[in-house]
Amino acid sequence: MKSSPILIRRQLRWHAAALATTAALMLTVSVQAAAFNGNYPIRVGATVGMVADIVREVAGDHAAVTSIIGSGVDPHVYSPTRSDVAVLLRSDILFYSGLLLEGQMTDILVKVSRKRPVYAVTERLQQDYLIHDSTTEHHDPHVWMDVSGWIKAVAVVADAMVAFDPAHAGEYHKNAATYQARLHRLDDYAKKVIASIPDSQRVLVTAHDAFNYLGRAYDIEVMGIQGLSTESEAGLKDINRLVGLLVDRRIPAVFVETSVSDKNVKALIEGAAAHGHRVIIGGELFSDAMGAAGTYEGTYEGMIDHNVTVIARALGGTAPAAGMQGKLSTP
Ligand code: ZN
Repeated sequence: MKSSPILIRRQLRWHAAALATTAALMLTVSVQAAAFNGNYPIRVGATVGMVADIVREVAGDHAAVTSIIGSGVDPHVYSPTRSDVAVLLRSDILFYSGLLLEGQMTDILVKVSRKRPVYAVTERLQQDYLIHDSTTEHHDPHVWMDVSGWIKAVAVVADAMVAFDPAHAGEYHKNAATYQARLHRLDDYAKKVIASIPDSQRVLVTAHDAFNYLGRAYDIEVMGIQGLSTESEAGLKDINRLVGLLVDRRIPAVFVETSVSDKNVKALIEGAAAHGHRVIIGGELFSDAMGAAGTYEGTYEGMIDHNVTVIARALGGTAPAAGMQGKLSTP
């Protein structure tokens, strides 16, 4: 894996996102009632896979969902291609995650919202729920990492589909309730397996800063290497501090992410080894994108099941190797 271009892009992404605030705020209030022409399936556009997954669960056969940002792709820096724009313009209704996650897509979302309903699935989360990022002065957008927060996103999609296609209101509400019940079980499983990690080792060290909501929801300390450093010099200092923490607290594992360089993570492991403490890579986590389409890990439930199962097992907790539903492909 190459590191520096990705690292630089990651550092820039928040700044790019900051410029888009005003437009994004306008977007959340520009939802219009559009008349449905009665043709099924309803063409639904979604930005990230986690959002598309909600729509598939809620709308079932009544909608054909196209997801723009694919597996393993970083939504913070994603710029829509011509064919993405065509998908958006063909859609009857659109959903995105919001909180500036899709910072480079703000302009096109604002544009398409003039002719069709566009919803941010995080729009109902209250200020006191959202985690504030002091370095960017924005809210942390990685809400899906707390299942209880993402359950609220399901309601946004359900109500939007009901407003658009009232003929199937009963089905949309029923599907949403069924999905939310499944997510409550997932939330309970996540709480249980993370709680099984011994107290002193309950520290999640990852490549970037995507896990703050997970940390708050499931009571595990979270440290993202990337989130702590914006310059290489400071980065070295932060890595040394994290090495000290790994050694002092005998943390057995750190984690890489599917779309982020593992260079800094490897530096941590080498640093700890130099102090006589062995740290392993506990596994690869899905941070901002789900697994491959068509796999269990390519669903929101599979993504979270994978993450919490891998974290718990690597840090000395107890969780079944194949996860909550026996469906995980990685041990
Ligand atoms: Zn992220």
